[in-house]
Amino acid sequence: MSNDPHLPRRGLMMMVVSPSGVGKTSLTRRLIADHADLHLSISATTRQPRPGEHDGRDYHFVDRLSFDDMIENDAFLEWAEVYGNRYGSPKAPIMAALERGDSVLFDIDFQGAMKISAYAPEDAVKVYVMPPSIGEMSRRLHARSQDSESVIRMRLSRAKDEVAQWEKFDYVVINDDFDRAYADLAHIFHAERLRRARNSWIAPFVQGLIEEPL
Ligand code: 5GP
Repeated sequence: MSNDPHLPRRGLMMMVVSPSGVGKTSLTRRLIADHADLHLSISATTRQPRPGEHDGRDYHFVDRLSFDDMIENDAFLEWAEVYGNRYGSPKAPIMAALERGDSVLFDIDFQGAMKISAYAPEDAVKVYVMPPSIGEMSRRLHARSQDSESVIRMRLSRAKDEVAQWEKFDYVVINDDFDRAYADLAHIFHAERLRRARNSWIAPFVQGLIEEPL
C-alpha cells in the first residue's frame, strides 16, 4: 500500500548519469514506460532538430533570443553551453510535477546533475550507471558505429575521469546485464519514493492510528 503512487507525497528528481555507450537510454526509457508517475524532463535547446527528433518530445527547440529570455526570467533549474549550443531544464513543469506527487527523470550530463542537486538537494537522487569495464564500453561504442576512432578514444578517456567521481552519487548501478541493471534502477526509484520525508500521507495516517479507540 505505501508505494501506491496515488498517496499524497512529494515527487523526486531522479538524475541518471553515465558515459555514452553504457545503455542508459534503454534503461531510462523502460523506467518511464513502467511508471505512470515518472516523467522525462524535456530540456530546451538552441540546437537544430536532428532527423527524427520532435519538438516537445525530444527537446523544446527554441531560438537563442527566447533561450536568453528564459535565462533572464529565471526559468531554468540549470543551463549549460555544450559545443556552441545552449541547453536548459525548464523549472516550472518540474516543480509542478513534484508538487502533484509525480517524479521527474533527468537524462542529463554530469555537470547538469551536480547543479540541480545543489539547487534542490532534498528532491534530487543521483544515480551513476557504469559499464562493467572500459573494454566493454569500447566494444559497444564501436558496435553502434556512430563515432570515429578518435571520438571513441576521447569518450573512453573522459569516462575514466568521470567514473573517478563516483562518490558524488547516491547510487552506482553497473550495466553488465540489462534486466539486472533495470531491476536495480526500479528498486532505487521505489525505495526513494517511500522515504518518510516525501510522504505527507504518513502524519495523518499515524494520527489516525493513535486516535483509534482500543
Ligand atoms: P545532444 O545535442 O547530443 O542532444 O546533447 C548534447 C549534450 O547536452 C548531452 O551531453 C546532453 O546530456 C546535454 N544536455 C541535454 N539537455 C541538457 C540540459 O538541460 N542541461 C544540461 N546541462 N545538459 C543537457
